Amino acid sequence: MPETNAGFFGADLDPGEGRLRLAVQRSGRLTDDTLGLLHAIGLDFESYGQRLFSHCRNFPLSILYGRDDDIPGYVGHGTVDLGIVGRNLIHEEGVQVEELLPLGFGFCSLIVAVLRDAPYASPDELRSRRIATSYPNSARRYFAEIGGSPEIVTISGSVEVAPSLGLADAIVELTATGSTLLLNDLRPIHTVLESQAVLVANHAAVADAAKKANIDRLLMRVDAVRAAKRYKYVMMNAPESALPAIRRVVPGLKAPTVVPLADPGWVAVHTAIEEDIFWESIEKLRGAGATEILVSSLEKLML
Ligand code: ATP
Ligand code: ZN
Repeated sequence: MPETNAGFFGADLDPGEGRLRLAVQRSGRLTDDTLGLLHAIGLDFESYGQRLFSHCRNFPLSILYGRDDDIPGYVGHGTVDLGIVGRNLIHEEGVQVEELLPLGFGFCSLIVAVLRDAPYASPDELRSRRIATSYPNSARRYFAEIGGSPEIVTISGSVEVAPSLGLADAIVELTATGSTLLLNDLRPIHTVLESQAVLVANHAAVADAAKKANIDRLLMRVDAVRAAKRYKYVMMNAPESALPAIRRVVPGLKAPTVVPLADPGWVAVHTAIEEDIFWESIEKLRGAGATEILVSSLEKLML
């Protein structure tokens, strides 16, 4: 739809060859992490104010700010090439887009929940009951899969109060920590979908060689920033005799870097350790004879 594109991006920002258009949530739960990620991968753009779109100064990318509910449609119809949105909304809108990468934020689950004392143990028992939800398509599709056709009541906010008000027997709703469920005396009985923010692409954009080249450049940068977050850079001093034991604890990405120190018989070891096993590894390193252990964060890591 070229008219729509001109409306969003203006004639002067008409996408040139390979130029990408990315839709992100303007203001909501995903906004800070999304903009943080785009800045972390080195994109230079203005994100403040009520602007509808901005233009990267150092990458062939324009960013459209919109309601999250609209993003799946924008990407599916090709109004934009890329979008960052919760997987739950891709599922809800049922659009055909390509999921390029999960982004590691905006974690939540779409669950079926009932009142704590309600006599339902599984969604099977709700197949012909009444369900309140703000995700009617996802709810209907889920119950159809288990052979049910409950009455679906679509509510756009505060779905969690529906059961205690007697408006519904159960809800299908998003939860991250479960605290809103607890507050409303609700008990989850099934997870329909695990969600997080994802980078999605329009199929035609991925099939366009010039756009694909720029999409790959973006993906490489996102991977580097995300990989860097998983690792710490660790430097330590150790007697040379401790090296075999140290190497068993920290194999390094390939092998650790070992540098001789001015003191004879001593070396400095540099390596990267995964966050998940960080403290465990540090304890083992000390046990193996490492001293003066220095730890720093990585900014980017190209594996
Ligand atoms: P918009 O004004 O853009 O339509 P919204 O109010 O519909 O925003 P938000 O509440 O900002 O949407 O949620 C955006 C996304 O954040 C959700 O689609 C979901 O992927 C994710 N999310 C993470 N945790 C939660 C949660 N506890 N409840 C709802 N959404 C969550
Ligand atoms: Zn929304």
